[in-house]
Amino acid sequence: MPPEQHEIERADLNSAALQVLDGLAEAGYRACLVGGAIRDLLLGYKPKDFDVSTNAEPEQVAAVFGRRARLIGRRFQIVHVRFGRELIEVSTFRADPNAGTRDERRVDASGRVLADNVFGSMAEDAGRRDFGINGLYYDISDGCLYDYVNGMADARERRLRLVGDPTVRYREDPVRMLRVVRLSASHQLTVATNSKPPAELIERLADVPPARLFDEFLKLFMQPAAPAIHGELRRAGLFGVLFPQTEDVLAGPGGGASAALIDKAVANTAGRIEAGKSVTPAFILAAILWPAVRETAATFERDGMPAMPALASAQAEVLARQSARVSIPKRFSMPMRDIWHLQPRFHRRRGKQPARLLEHDRFRAAYDFLLLRAEVGEVDSELASWWTERQKQKGDDADATANEDSDQQRRSGKRRNGRRGGRGRR
Ligand code: ATP
Ligand code: MG
Repeated sequence: MPPEQHEIERADLNSAALQVLDGLAEAGYRACLVGGAIRDLLLGYKPKDFDVSTNAEPEQVAAVFGRRARLIGRRFQIVHVRFGRELIEVSTFRADPNAGTRDERRVDASGRVLADNVFGSMAEDAGRRDFGINGLYYDISDGCLYDYVNGMADARERRLRLVGDPTVRYREDPVRMLRVVRLSASHQLTVATNSKPPAELIERLADVPPARLFDEFLKLFMQPAAPAIHGELRRAGLFGVLFPQTEDVLAGPGGGASAALIDKAVANTAGRIEAGKSVTPAFILAAILWPAVRETAATFERDGMPAMPALASAQAEVLARQSARVSIPKRFSMPMRDIWHLQPRFHRRRGKQPARLLEHDRFRAAYDFLLLRAEVGEVDSELASWWTERQKQKGDDADATANEDSDQQRRSGKRRNGRRGGRGRR
């Protein structure tokens, strides 16, 4: 489509994207804006970042941009080009992963693509993009939009459709099942009938490396549309593959209250993101895994273990099992464990114990979590009110909220204790 037939123009791009595109074009390569940015512009959203696709191979891209460039990845090699604070991802046109020699291509027994570094043409590259609306190319040299996969028609219809045969595409990369749920909710798109995640492939998500699923988890849950996404993941059965231990509890007797707790944590985070407040995944993760921790601790207690060690062992066990599916980096699992292990201490209201708990670095996060538990009837609302009062009396700075990232929490903790300086200070 020539420039006058579509609405993408240079002015829509940021300067880093333009410098990368122009730099590649001047060096004689084909340079296109591709993927999410074009999709967002066509659908009326502001692009979050700009991805570039080119016929230059990774080393050639690196040669054009010198020290600004860094080669990234093995399974899927790309180049990061940095201009100030902006990072542009540059990928080389790739061919169908089923083409190429045996060395270049690696597919596992279920058809999952393990390595994907066979280079090809723009048309071939379009064919291996996930969705029609993600498969459009804006060529900086001629200003044309290239559409090999009927992406324009999908954009006009606000339709989310997998490119190619859905079964093959979902087998190649089961994460696409999460992407379809995420994009349809965040961009208000209708999923084409053939592109809904097929029930028989849902379990394949378990083959994806746990670290990659954590990245996807963040994209799914740390955003304004998270409540809708979470609902759809539950309905589609995908949530259960990501968090099997939680799913077991939710499916069991009394699962409703646990589901409500998770819903509230997800809604709370989404609301804070929308309001521009800081958030931490530790809070949502604490809520998602809590039902499993609570139930596991209860079985240990039935076996005669005292409450505190039962809780500690349950935390360790649930986390160990969880990390085989979606791995949780330490910087998030540590605050999450604090939130959990402080819960029983809210029940001790005598002597010096409450004062000590109020001084705990993670008090605010644990207290917010207690409020969620009270809201769903897991603890007495009288207990929550008692702590709300104690907290007010203490005159703590009202801004320091729980659902905050840990650095900020550490910093506000430092301020409260009258200490200054150190790592948190810029
Ligand atoms: P956002 O950045 O808003 O999450 P995006 O579409 O830009 O959305 P990226 O993960 O940045 O997502 O991917 C950039 C592009 O790469 C996509 O638009 C799509 O064309 C392609 N892509 C990403 N992930 C996959 C995948 N799993 N399978 C096929 N193509 C993909
Ligand atoms: Mg992107």
